[in-house]
Amino acid sequence: ATPTALMVGTGRGAQLGILIKGPEVLESTRRVDTVVLDKTGTVTTGRMSLRDVVVAEGVDERELLRLAGALEDFSEHPIARAVADAARSADPGGLPSVEDFANVEGLGVQGVVDGHAVLVGRPRLLADWSQHLSPALQKAFDEAQADGGTAVAVGWDGADRGVLVVADTVKETSAEAIARFRELGLRPVLLTGDNRATALSVAEQVGIAEDDVVAEVLPADKVDVVKRLQAEGRVVAMVGDGVNDAAALAQADLGLAMGTGTDAAIQASDLTLVSGDLRVAADGVRLARRTLTIIR
Ligand code: ADP
Ligand code: MG
Repeated sequence: ATPTALMVGTGRGAQLGILIKGPEVLESTRRVDTVVLDKTGTVTTGRMSLRDVVVAEGVDERELLRLAGALEDFSEHPIARAVADAARSADPGGLPSVEDFANVEGLGVQGVVDGHAVLVGRPRLLADWSQHLSPALQKAFDEAQADGGTAVAVGWDGADRGVLVVADTVKETSAEAIARFRELGLRPVLLTGDNRATALSVAEQVGIAEDDVVAEVLPADKVDVVKRLQAEGRVVAMVGDGVNDAAALAQADLGLAMGTGTDAAIQASDLTLVSGDLRVAADGVRLARRTLTIIR
């Protein structure tokens, strides 16, 4: 290999806003035929805001937001940020104190707020505590999801209490980025822990086929999705931003981290995109291939 050509490649990468871990990374980009994209924070902005509050009969809306918001104040999840921010604005008096907070990976959060044992997260989390959503709440939940929102269930003291709907927005640059991946012969796959309806809504907005949506994946299982594709003979690039994505990024033949993401994701990756613009990832693959062509 010609060290100079590689140097030129990595130098040009820096200009584009791509940090390359080492020249050997360029080689792995050559055979990549699949790009797995994390949804939240990668394809979408990851900045969610509260869109709706739906309560069970007899439950006060403000109370629900206050209890859920206090709990979510301890979580870094984008859903949590949206809920906590909304609760804080609705209640200038300050959020109640929380004891025994616990994050349940890929499902939600739990803790004692104002003496109530509160759960916020996927309906599965509530179901684990026999707090199944009532048909009315389930309907509100499903409708919000079908509408492209992300709904989370709220329960406390042994009963389902309501549904909070937050919405994330697809980055303006994502659809074009995905078109560029396709031009390079890469098949895009959308991977998320979020529910299938929301994932499909995002996929449709950016031009990813329904068959290429893998949703409701627990954080620890994201890496298995990458392994499965590799077992099918695919050479996989993975783009992610979260702590949840680190193992999958490391497993992928080429790991790309959003510079706007977590340190864990950046450390596990081969390439870091300085901005949150997914188009740069496609440009990075193109650049790496071109650089290799020069070497050969
Ligand atoms: P993603 O892959 O979209 O980044 P995660 O694996 O982090 O999602 O979470 C999966 C799902 O678990 C979320 O879509 C949400 O329904 C639920 N969840 C996780 N953390 C929280 C939280 N702090 N509050 C509410 N729900 C949560
Ligand atoms: Mg994420």
